[in-house]
Amino acid sequence: MPDRDNVLDDIDLNFDTTVAKLLELIAIPSISSAPSGEAGIAQAAEWLKRELDDIGLSAKIVATMGRPVVLAQSTAKSDQARPKLLFYGHYDVQPVGDLAQWTHPPFGPRVIQEDGVHRFYGRGSSDSKSQLWTFIEALRAWRAVYREFPADIIVLLEGEEECGSPSLPDFIERFRSELACDVAFICDAEMWSPTQPAITTQLKGLVHERVTISTPNPDLHSGHYGAVAANPIRILSSILAGLHDENGQVTIDGFYDGVSDIPEKVREQWAELGEEHSLIGDVDLTGGVTEEGYSLLEAMWGRPTVDINGITGGNQGPGERSVLPGSATSRLSFRLVGGQEPETIRKRFRSHVEARLPQGCKAEFEGVGGSSAVMLSQDSRFLKVASRGLEEEWGIPAILRGTGGAIPLVEQFSRGLGAECVVIGFILPGDAIHAPDEHYDTERLRKGVRSWVRIFDEIRQDARG
Ligand SMILES: [Zn+2]
Repeated sequence: MPDRDNVLDDIDLNFDTTVAKLLELIAIPSISSAPSGEAGIAQAAEWLKRELDDIGLSAKIVATMGRPVVLAQSTAKSDQARPKLLFYGHYDVQPVGDLAQWTHPPFGPRVIQEDGVHRFYGRGSSDSKSQLWTFIEALRAWRAVYREFPADIIVLLEGEEECGSPSLPDFIERFRSELACDVAFICDAEMWSPTQPAITTQLKGLVHERVTISTPNPDLHSGHYGAVAANPIRILSSILAGLHDENGQVTIDGFYDGVSDIPEKVREQWAELGEEHSLIGDVDLTGGVTEEGYSLLEAMWGRPTVDINGITGGNQGPGERSVLPGSATSRLSFRLVGGQEPETIRKRFRSHVEARLPQGCKAEFEGVGGSSAVMLSQDSRFLKVASRGLEEEWGIPAILRGTGGAIPLVEQFSRGLGAECVVIGFILPGDAIHAPDEHYDTERLRKGVRSWVRIFDEIRQDARG
C-alpha cells in the first residue's frame, strides 16, 4: 500500500519536469486586460485544459462574457463519504508595462542561479501561474501513486482576475451545482516569509466613491470674486480634511456601527508577529497617522479606513490662471471590515458631505462596485487540517494573517456557494508582483507542491475520523 511519502518522493523525482512545464505556461502571454492578449489567453486555457485532462480530471473551457474559465472535475465517487475540494487559481497575467525596465524577457523564462537560489523571471511567474501549478502538480503526483485522487476534486482556473473578475459572479451562478463543495482552497495569497507559511483569514471589503462639488457659477475671475463667491476646492478640501479626527478615527456618523473590536485571541497572535515585519517593506511611515489604540498590524488588517485617492479641479494647465473654479472632484476608497455593509457606508459618506455643503452648492456622487469584508473562522475543520499540513512541510506553524487587500472572489464563494474558504499561497511581496522582473524560485515551488500533498493526507485522515 503506497503512502504519502511515496507521493513526496514522486514530486522530488519528477521535479525537473514540473519546473519545465511551468516555464512553458509562463511563456504564454495570457494578458487579460488588453485585446492583444486574446490569443495568449486562449492558448493558456487550452494548455491547462490538456494538462488537467492528462492528470485524470475531466476539463472543459467555459466561455463567459469576458475571458474563459477552465473548469475540471474528477469522477465523483459518491458512494464514499469523501469531501469535495475545490481549487481556485487564475491563469491570466498583468500587462508587462515598460519593457525597458525588464532585465529578463517577460515571456521567455529559464532557471538561473542567483545567490544560491534557483530563480526564474517572467510575467505571471509568481502571480499566479506558480500558485495554480502547486495544486495541479500535487494532484498529479497523488493520483500517479494512489491511482485515485485524495477526494472529489473541482479545479476552477479563472482568466480575468487581473481585470477584477467581472464575469465570475455570473459564472458561479450558472455553475452553482457543479461548484458545490465542502471547501474552496483559494491559492492566490502570500506566505508570511520565505520560510514561514500563512493562511489568510481576514480580508477587507472595498467601496469606491467619486464626489464632485459645484457652485452655481462657471469658472470665475479670482480677483473679482475670490473675496465673496464660493470656491468648491476650498469646500471639498475642508470636507476631506475633516474625515479624520486627530486620533486617526473616521468622523463619518455611524462609520463604525456594527464593527466589533478585534478579538483578543487575534490581537495576541498578531502581537507575536511584531511590528518590524517586511509587510511595511521599504515604505517610510514618517508623517503617517495610525489610529490611536491600535498597533500597525491591527490598523492594517483589522480596522476600516477611508482614503483620498485623488483630487482635481480648477487650473491644471502649465501656466497660471487665477481662477475660482466651478467644480472640484475627489475620488475615495473605503476599506471595510466585518459588520460594515458597502451600501450603508456609501450612504453615510454621502450624507456626511451633504450636511457640510454651503447653501447654493451641490454635490454629485458616483459609486463603483463594493464588496464586504470576509472573516474566515479560525476554528474551522479545513483550516485546522491545512495548518497541520503546512506546518509538517515547513517545520514551523502557519501564521493566521489578515490583509488590507480584498479578494472579492472569497466573498462570492463563501456567500454565493456557502462554501468554507481557505486562502493559502506561496508568493512573497518581494516577488515583484505586477512589476518589471517578476520572479519566483524553484524551492518554493517544490515546497508548495509538497505542502498540498501533506494537506491532502491530513484531509484523508480527518475524513476517516
Ligand atoms: Zn495580480
